[in-house]
Amino acid sequence: MMPSEQGKARGRSGGMEPDSTRPSARKPQRRRPTAGPALTSDHPHARSLAALEEEASGCERCDLYRNANRLVFGEGPKDARVVLVGEQPGDREDLAGRPFVGPAGRVLDECLTEAGIDRNICYVTNAVKHFKFTERGKRRLHSRPNAGEVRACAWWLAAELDVLRPRLVIALGATAVYALLGNRIKVMAARGQVIAPPSGPPVLVTIHPSYLLRARGHADVAAERGAFVEDLRRISALTGNP
Ligand code: SF4
Repeated sequence: MMPSEQGKARGRSGGMEPDSTRPSARKPQRRRPTAGPALTSDHPHARSLAALEEEASGCERCDLYRNANRLVFGEGPKDARVVLVGEQPGDREDLAGRPFVGPAGRVLDECLTEAGIDRNICYVTNAVKHFKFTERGKRRLHSRPNAGEVRACAWWLAAELDVLRPRLVIALGATAVYALLGNRIKVMAARGQVIAPPSGPPVLVTIHPSYLLRARGHADVAAERGAFVEDLRRISALTGNP
């Protein structure tokens, strides 16, 4: 478990946040921001995203390639001004070979639409490119990547950001926050803030959309969803996109 996540509950598909972090419990984030492994890692310098994906397809930098079906690289326009970073591919993404096409992806698409943001202008990727899971019968249950796996895969996220040079990065959930900003930033305390790390583009911190799936049935899920939409709505102003 990453240092920043000790004591927090774990989610099934990334970015689990503790129940004690409802809007009324949020406190302003006052810790000095650091750059996480994806903004400090040595990385390959590819000519294009396609070349990078080709190179990454043979990656054995950690053990996660062993059980996953395939690498799930980021996708989106090469001139994207905003990059959305999640945790890792889920079961559906691992089968499809594309990021955010499962249930959490549908929530993300709906919230982007409500926020007036066209997903097609965004580059969407994950901090970790292979699906980590445990098997229960025929089911493959999400297992959160550990800090070593996030650091190993920062090699690729750093390279994607180097090619794209976005104006803004959206960190979706705790794993993405760790990859981009290190372990001093607590996702719910910093939620909605744009943090300028010592190196790299500014990072807007928000929840992972899978959190909204897990929060279904809770009294404050509508408020949490509304806050997520408001976070996404800021993309236009922060990137200069219409
Ligand atoms: S999860 Fe990332 S670092 Fe690990 S094998 Fe896959 S691409 Fe390589």
